[in-house]
Amino acid sequence: MHKDIATPVRTKEILDKYGFSFKKSLGQNFLIDTNILNRIVDHAELTDHSGAIEIGPGIGALTEQLAKRAEKVVAFEIDQRLLPILEDTLSPYPNVKVIHSDVLKADVQAVMKQEFNEQEDVMVVANLPYYVTTPILMKLLEERLPIRGIVCMLQKEVGDRISAKPGTKEYGSLSIAVQYYTKAETVMIVPKTVFMPQPNVDSAVIRLTLHDEPPVKVKDEDFFFRVTRSSFAQRRKTILNNLTSQLPDGKQKKESIQAALQQAGVEESRRGET
Ligand code: SAM
Repeated sequence: MHKDIATPVRTKEILDKYGFSFKKSLGQNFLIDTNILNRIVDHAELTDHSGAIEIGPGIGALTEQLAKRAEKVVAFEIDQRLLPILEDTLSPYPNVKVIHSDVLKADVQAVMKQEFNEQEDVMVVANLPYYVTTPILMKLLEERLPIRGIVCMLQKEVGDRISAKPGTKEYGSLSIAVQYYTKAETVMIVPKTVFMPQPNVDSAVIRLTLHDEPPVKVKDEDFFFRVTRSSFAQRRKTILNNLTSQLPDGKQKKESIQAALQQAGVEESRRGET
């Protein structure tokens, strides 16, 4: 039996063998703690019939644990230098497919169709590159992929905003955007010491479970998200002031905006987060 990838000793061995140097610009902070990885994977509640999609496998630390529990794993990795390494480290796991691609440019829907024939239950599980956390999450949600949910590591501060409840200072347009598609929970706070190299910020794991039905019925999603983003444009301003200054022709349409707020039972002096 080989040792798990996610230990300090094995990770160093692999990095040395390939002369790999971390690229900060790609958010490369690898996990070196099998315990933490197992707890992350627990939160995904995979069965041996599940499919798993990973973003950024690195040298395969999380991929390996996913491969042990899911029926099939598909991982998107942007850094070409990691491909031969992954081929080596993941050779004991024939149920893993690594795709060399920037996930933001990939046609994930098409890949899912091609790779997951047998798996109806698919989860995204990832230790995300922190420089693109939000674009990746929003892409996965907006494309309405046929997934059950997402379990991912990210900056604690972003996790706090995503899972925030109305009325708190963290609550904002990102909370609304993510919670429109999913039930969002922070399930773990993770110390810096489990990464190599250690990141500068604190980390957390969130779990997003897709709603069957969105919590509010929306006729025009683009307009809905424009309104929610506008409501928080300047946090100290009232909702009325934010909407009139941010929406197109808002100033001329102040009276209609006031009427709409009144009709919705929202006092115009309130702030977006309430
Ligand atoms: N999963 C590994 C682990 O937990 O040890 C590595 C996680 S590391 C935080 C992020 C990984 O995402 C790196 O391997 C990096 O090269 C990759 N990555 C960065 N940007 C990416 C993108 N746009 N598409 C796909 N992978 C990306």
